[in-house]
Amino acid sequence: PDVARQIAAGEVVSRPLDAVRELLDNALDAGASRIEVELLGGGLKRVTVRDNGAGIPAAQVELAPLRHATSKLESVDRVTTLGFRGEALWALAQAGQLTLTTRPATQLGAVQLTAHGSEVNVGRVSAAAGTTVSVTGMFAHLPARLRTQATAAAEAREVTALLSRYVLHWPGLHWRLTVDGDARLQHAPTDTRGAVASVYGPLSANRVLKVDTDLVSGVLSRPELTRPRRDRMHFSVNGRPVLAPPELEKAVIDGYAELLPAGQAPLCVLDLRLPPEDVNPNVHPAKAVVAMADLGGLAERLQLAVAQALAAHPL
Ligand code: ADP
Ligand code: MG
Repeated sequence: PDVARQIAAGEVVSRPLDAVRELLDNALDAGASRIEVELLGGGLKRVTVRDNGAGIPAAQVELAPLRHATSKLESVDRVTTLGFRGEALWALAQAGQLTLTTRPATQLGAVQLTAHGSEVNVGRVSAAAGTTVSVTGMFAHLPARLRTQATAAAEAREVTALLSRYVLHWPGLHWRLTVDGDARLQHAPTDTRGAVASVYGPLSANRVLKVDTDLVSGVLSRPELTRPRRDRMHFSVNGRPVLAPPELEKAVIDGYAELLPAGQAPLCVLDLRLPPEDVNPNVHPAKAVVAMADLGGLAERLQLAVAQALAAHPL
């Protein structure tokens, strides 16, 4: 049973990057306006995510790290929150030592829970409103899993790229990432263009134009700001940063038509708004891939929105 549990937990959290994504999703679901991430030793030593969101009421804290404990899911056919499986905190407690400190703004005093494996302890502490979760010594007791981890520097780069995507898609929040104590990424609330400035610098931000339709909002670069790789094409679906299906990347590129030299890709940050029942984030535990209904039709509408946005801003 212990082995089965470790395997199941490993599908949710197989590296520090997964821990960060799950904790960011929880902070966003909690309505936070300020989110800070701290990474030590590439996250294997410690990952911490601090938010100023709704917190967990004292009476419910002990439920949080139980498997399948979620306060969110109303219907599997219509997921409107980023989390819904109730597995992340549980998996993090299998991966290392989980410490969760939480206080709703209206509650006097915070609760601190520590969990490792199935051992859970709870106590009273004082803390600011919101939630801080850290995982210490990730995989320290699982040598095989530890051996397959990336280097600390590589994992820190991946986490920086992940956080950059969240900044681009959630630009109205305060964000901060520190790696071994050094600030890597900081962002104060702005619009998407401001987020492009935080992530790629002001020169890039000056070369993007806005898109805003019922389907999609965000920014697109002017055709001169292109590169041969698609690594600056960012998509979210209903607030969740996703790895876009190649069909959607192609739709955007096709929307530029002959404005874009062959083989080049633009910078874009596009937030797709789809009816929740048309999106299935339940295809992989890490949820970075989502299934969308009628991808072909969606691609057509996206291409048209891009073409119209470019036509509306004569170059
Ligand atoms: P899920 O997000 O799928 O519900 P998790 O294991 O990630 O499952 O979290 C379990 C529960 O703990 C959540 O449903 C939520 O009620 C609570 N929770 C977790 N993180 C936070 C947070 N940062 N702020 C407020 N509540 C949280
Ligand atoms: Mg969650």
